[in-house]
Amino acid sequence: MKIGVLALQGAFREHCLALARLGAEPVEVRKPAQLEGCRALIIPGGESTTIGKLMDQYNLFEPVRRMGEQGVPIFGTCAGMIMLAREIEGSDQPRLGLMSIGVSRNAFGRQVESFESDLDVPVLGSEPVRGVFIRAPQVVSVGPGVEVLAVYHDKVVLVRQGHLLAAAFHPELTADNRLHAYFLAGSRL
Ligand code: GLN
Repeated sequence: MKIGVLALQGAFREHCLALARLGAEPVEVRKPAQLEGCRALIIPGGESTTIGKLMDQYNLFEPVRRMGEQGVPIFGTCAGMIMLAREIEGSDQPRLGLMSIGVSRNAFGRQVESFESDLDVPVLGSEPVRGVFIRAPQVVSVGPGVEVLAVYHDKVVLVRQGHLLAAAFHPELTADNRLHAYFLAGSRL
């Protein structure tokens, strides 16, 4: 089963490895034609303004937005979460705007740009998930139909809206495949 991974910038290789470990067939996506046949899509972390600029340049906004609107599962991590959000606090940067969430970029402050912490993610079982946060955003508002799946010190860091999943952290940077497996399973793939 082919799963697209947006491969314009950022941590796409690690997502491909995680998908391969789960027996899926990752496809690096840089052009619209490469989306064909993909049953789901992952938008990796990186720098959301750069990813937005490149998506515009490579004409990927329209086809990806259409996929999301048609119910194709999409998982965004970190900058990918920002790309999925409808609102980005204090910014008019390009975005897909598919999820009814508002996000705040770099929400954990300059002092602690990057850190790791165990997260309680009940949908993945009782074993905590190691959250790797790198200049991470947080979700500051959720609309109807958005489920909050994890919080870190009152900050919402994992949400799901039907076929759309977004994490403020980087699950692809650990050996724990549970969140990717949850995405594939929840998408009935
Ligand atoms: N701070 C980045 C942004 O605003 C996201 C960081 C990441 O993806 N690790 O786009």
